[in-house]
Amino acid sequence: MFAEELNFRRKLVKIGRRAVSLGFVMNSQGNFSLRLPGTDYVLIKPSAIPYEDIEVEDIVKVDLYGKVVDGLHKPSSEVDTHCLAYRTYPEVAGCAHVESPYLNALYAMDKEVPNVLGNFVYLFEGKGLAFGPSLRSSSEKFGKAMFDAMGNNYGVIWKNHGLFCVGPNIEVAFDRCVAAEQAAKVYWLVLALKAGEPDVIPPQIQYEMVEAVRRGAGGG
Ligand SMILES: [Zn+2]
Repeated sequence: MFAEELNFRRKLVKIGRRAVSLGFVMNSQGNFSLRLPGTDYVLIKPSAIPYEDIEVEDIVKVDLYGKVVDGLHKPSSEVDTHCLAYRTYPEVAGCAHVESPYLNALYAMDKEVPNVLGNFVYLFEGKGLAFGPSLRSSSEKFGKAMFDAMGNNYGVIWKNHGLFCVGPNIEVAFDRCVAAEQAAKVYWLVLALKAGEPDVIPPQIQYEMVEAVRRGAGGG
């Protein structure tokens, strides 16, 4: 295994463990992948292995159609959706799917996360989250309908299931999951306080934030 590929495998192992520590996934749920730069190969987490047991050699390498080219295990059951993301969006090189509880709770009540936090505005360029189809995941049909729903957004909700985010690398895709769950948690707290709807970030400030992102400045 080339040193560079080993590094990318380490990134996936690390992100899986971060997702567990943040409570975004349990057991072997959720999935993370990245496209190896300049290649048509994707590294993805294996299916059905708890994150704490996943080591670099357990990461599965597939082609852009999900066919295993190097791996000791089966790839994640949502490999088709990840591969479709890389085929649909050439600028995407990382995908993260989490099953984080605050987002799931809100969207189970048909509550959309508003722009209550700056990081959420920065990382989604003020566009918030798209809403995916109610189909079983783990199929290419689902993936197609989902990316139709996602359009030019960076994250899409799978109702009663979780969130799928894309990014120019796996770190940004995962940071988007973090920002979305953080905003969901704040919104949830506001609702729990029965204080009515929260003040969202004023449109002019949201606009300035998005402009700052386009100029290359990031969130905190
Ligand atoms: Zn899932």
